[in-house]
Amino acid sequence: MRFDRLRLNGFKSFVDPTDLVIREGLTGVVGPNGCGKSNLLEALRWVMGENRPTAMRGEGMEDVIFAGTTRRNARAHAEVSLSVDNRDRLAPAGFNEDDQFDITRRITRDAGSAYKIAGKDVRARDVQMLFADASTGAHSPALVRQGQISELISAKPKSRRRILEEAAGISGLYARRHEAELKLNGAEGNLTRVDDTLDQLSSQAATLARQARAAAKYREIGAALRLAEGLLLYRRWSDAEAARLAAAQALSEAVKAAGQAGAAADAAVLRRTETEAALPPLRE
Ligand code: ATP
Repeated sequence: MRFDRLRLNGFKSFVDPTDLVIREGLTGVVGPNGCGKSNLLEALRWVMGENRPTAMRGEGMEDVIFAGTTRRNARAHAEVSLSVDNRDRLAPAGFNEDDQFDITRRITRDAGSAYKIAGKDVRARDVQMLFADASTGAHSPALVRQGQISELISAKPKSRRRILEEAAGISGLYARRHEAELKLNGAEGNLTRVDDTLDQLSSQAATLARQARAAAKYREIGAALRLAEGLLLYRRWSDAEAARLAAAQALSEAVKAAGQAGAAADAAVLRRTETEAALPPLRE
């Protein structure tokens, strides 16, 4: 990964927009004590996603914003932009169309940092991964700060290993492994939650199965009940029908007897009339 230019605006002592053009053959920056040489390296680390204020020699990240002098007011934000030469097309997909693209980090007081790659808003993680994949980054041992050489000489094997890993170009893989481990842990947590939900659902399913059995039995009993009620009603109806037929029979017999009795009464009336008619001559 080749850098073309570092642009600082409001970052530490670089209150006005300042470009550090990084051309072939640039081997050093020379200047009197306190002129801002270390600030340049810090700007480079910062735009790569450094998130420890101590690495910026500050107490809070907002300490990187120009703090003001007797003659100039403090600034409300700071911005650092790094131009990357992308002629070999090694940038991640989505940013790989042009020969050159900018990575920008901007910090605003009380609002924190925002990152952009090629003008698109991205997360700090995306910027860190981009540099990690190119085997560099804010924590790269290739960026040597003051006093670090003596630290490296007396470094522990673990720190030396990082230098070797970076030289081998596998630090991106380590960062990805860490990310994958985090994802795996997340997935494990999700699986545990799914297990809990499954347990809950299976106990609900058992309750529902019990309820379903009770409902089926209720339906069965209901059908039997309806059949029994039907039979009972039919039985009552057939008894009533038999009683009605018997009553109708009795009625017709009574009507017949009444007819006969009426005829006998008519005959008796006739006989009485005749007898009464025969009575006067007999009386005389
Ligand atoms: P040395 O050679 O002594 O290490 P240097 O050239 O590396 O010095 P730096 O340490 O990069 O210089 O810069 C220090 C200067 O930056 C100091 O003058 C300090 O006042 C200024 N500075 C640091 N932070 C801020 C800030 N937030 N606002 C304004 N000026 C700042």
